[in-house]
Amino acid sequence: MAKIVIVGGVAGGASTAARLRRRDELAEIILFERGEYISYANCGLPYYIGNVITDRDRLFVQTPEGFAARFKIDVRIRSEVTGIDRKAKRVTVIDLKSNKTYEESYDKLVLSPGAEPVKPPIPGIDLDGIFTVRNVPDTDRIKEYIKRNKVRRALIIGAGFIGLEMAENLHRRGILVTIVEMAEQVMTPLDFEMAAEVHQHLKAKNVEFYLKEAVTAFESRLGRLVARLSGGKELQVGLVILGVGVRPDSALAREAGLEIGGRGGIKVDEFLQTSDPDVYALGDAIEFPHPVLGKPMSVYLAGPANKQGRIVADNIVLGNKRRYRGSIATAIAKVFDLTVAATGLSEKALRAEGIPFVCSITHSASHAGYYPDAQPTSLKIVFSPEDGRLFGAQIVGYKGVDKRVDMIASVLKQGGTVYDLQEIEHAYAPPFSSAKDPVNIAGFVAENIIGGLVKIVHWHELNEEELSRSFILDVREVEEYKLGKIEGAENIPLNSLRDRLKELPRDRRIIVYCAVGLRAYLACRILSQNGFSEVYNLSGGYKTYEFVTEKQANEDIFQGDVIGKDNNIYQTAVEEA
Ligand code: FAD
Repeated sequence: MAKIVIVGGVAGGASTAARLRRRDELAEIILFERGEYISYANCGLPYYIGNVITDRDRLFVQTPEGFAARFKIDVRIRSEVTGIDRKAKRVTVIDLKSNKTYEESYDKLVLSPGAEPVKPPIPGIDLDGIFTVRNVPDTDRIKEYIKRNKVRRALIIGAGFIGLEMAENLHRRGILVTIVEMAEQVMTPLDFEMAAEVHQHLKAKNVEFYLKEAVTAFESRLGRLVARLSGGKELQVGLVILGVGVRPDSALAREAGLEIGGRGGIKVDEFLQTSDPDVYALGDAIEFPHPVLGKPMSVYLAGPANKQGRIVADNIVLGNKRRYRGSIATAIAKVFDLTVAATGLSEKALRAEGIPFVCSITHSASHAGYYPDAQPTSLKIVFSPEDGRLFGAQIVGYKGVDKRVDMIASVLKQGGTVYDLQEIEHAYAPPFSSAKDPVNIAGFVAENIIGGLVKIVHWHELNEEELSRSFILDVREVEEYKLGKIEGAENIPLNSLRDRLKELPRDRRIIVYCAVGLRAYLACRILSQNGFSEVYNLSGGYKTYEFVTEKQANEDIFQGDVIGKDNNIYQTAVEEA
C-alpha cells in the first residue's frame, strides 16, 4: 500500500488528494495544511471582503472533516511541514496546536505550498492596518479591521489583478480607494494601450490612483496610517492592502536540496516530478517552460494548479504517463464594470525577448449592434509576421470577454494561427454575438495585414516627427471630427473620399484613421487601388488613440477629504458586517 504525503491543502494539494483517492482506494494519503482550512476559494476572498459573497461558509469548497470522510484522507490542519529528509523519505511536521514536532514517512511526496505575497522592505511595513490578502485569516482580519476602525479610506499598493479586485470591493463598501502603482500602467499582462482603457474606467469610477509612484515609508500618526510616496506626497489612510505580487513558496523544497529554477520556483519536468523522482510539485510554487516562449515561468493561477493535481495523482498511481504541457497564463478579472482578460504573451514581453511580432487592435460590439445593449469590446492580438502564429491576446470590454479570451486561448494553446481564429465556429444569435464574432474579425484583420492588403501604424509611432511628415486623414463624419481629432488631421468622410482624391498628396505618407479602424481600412483600400502607395491604417483607430493620449493617472481627487459630501458616488456607509 503506497503512502503519499501532500504538503498544502488548497488548490493543488486538495485536487491531487481527491484524484489520488479516485485512482487508488487503498493508498494511505496524508494531507498537511499549515492553516486551519483546506480547499477554500482564495479567488473569492476579495468578494467576501466586499460583501458580494455574504456567507463566509460559501468560501469553503470542503471542510477538513468533510474531505476526510468523503475521500478517506488523513487531513491534518494546523500542521506545518518544516523539513524533508529525502534520503530517509521522511518529513518533519510541527503540530501548530500543540507545538509538538514529529516525523512522517512517505513513498511519494507532493509539494503544493503555493506562493507567498511579496512584502517589500519599506520602513513601517509591519504597522497595524497593513495587510496582504492570501488566505481566509487575512480576510477575516481585514474585515474585522474595517469594522472596528470604521475605515473610510484605503490605500492599495500594486495594481495587479488582486489589487484591482480589492479596489472594486472596498469601493463597493463605500470606502474611498487610492491605488499606488510603480509602473506606468495597471495590470502588467496588458500592453499600455489596453491598460489605458482600464485607467479611464477607474477614473470614471472615482478611484484615485498614482502611476510611476512608489510608497517609500509608512508611519502611524494620530491613529491614521501615513504613506509617503516617492514623489514626496503623503497619503493619510485607514487601511493599506499590499498587492505588489507573489513569489513561489519554495523555501522548504530549497532546504531539502531540490532543484530550484532561475525564477525561484521548484523545477519540475513534464511529469511534474522534481529533481527527486519521489517528489512531485505543482501549483504556484513551480516553474515550467512557457509553451510559446520555451522559457521557465511561474504561473499564479487556480486553473493550472487544479489541473496539475490530476496529472500528479495519475503519474503517482500509473507511473509517469501524463505530461503537463505548460500554461499560457490565461487570466481574467472584473474591474468595476469592465472585464479584463489576457492570454499568452503581450507585445512588451515579445519585445523584451526580441521575438518579431505584429499586433492588431480591433474594436467590435459584444453582440449584433441592432440588438439592444451591445457593448464595446477592445481586442488586441499579437502574432508572427511570417506564418501568423498567435502569440497572445488581450481583451477589455463588458459582456462576452470571457468566452472570447477562452476561444483565443484554446487556439493559442494548440499552437494555432490567426487563420484559425477566422475559422472558429461560434454559436450566433443577435443577443450573443454577430455572424462574424469579434474573434473572427481579429483573424480577418490579421490576415489582411500579413497578406499586405493593408499596412498599419500604431499609436506609439505617431510622434511629432511622424505627424508633421505624414498627411493625417480622418475619414469619420464631420460631426465626429468636430468632437475630437488627432492634431493636424484633415477630414474627408469616407463616403466622399472617391470624389476628393485630388486633395490628397501623392508624395507623402498618408495615415488614415476613423473611430475604430474599419472605415479607415475601406479608405486605405480605395487609396491603394487609386495609386497611393504609402497608405497606413491607424490600428485601433481614434478610440485607442484617445485612451492613450488622455491623462492616465487620477491623483489628488480626495484632497480636502470629501467623505460625506460626494453623495453621488459614496452613498454606501461602511457597513457593519
Ligand atoms: P494554494 O492554493 O495557495 O495552497 C497552498 C497551501 O499550502 C496554503 O494553504 C499554505 O498554507 C499551505 N502550505 C504552504 N507551506 C506549507 C507547509 N510547509 N506545510 C503545510 N502547509 C503549507 N487564480 C485564478 O486563476 N483566478 C482568480 O480569480 C484568482 N484570484 C485570487 C485571489 C486571491 C486573493 C488569491 C490569494 C489568489 C487568487 N488566485 C486566482 C490564485 C490562486 O488562488 C492560486 O493560483 C492557487 O490557489 C494556487 O494553488 P496552490 O495549490 O499552488 O497554492
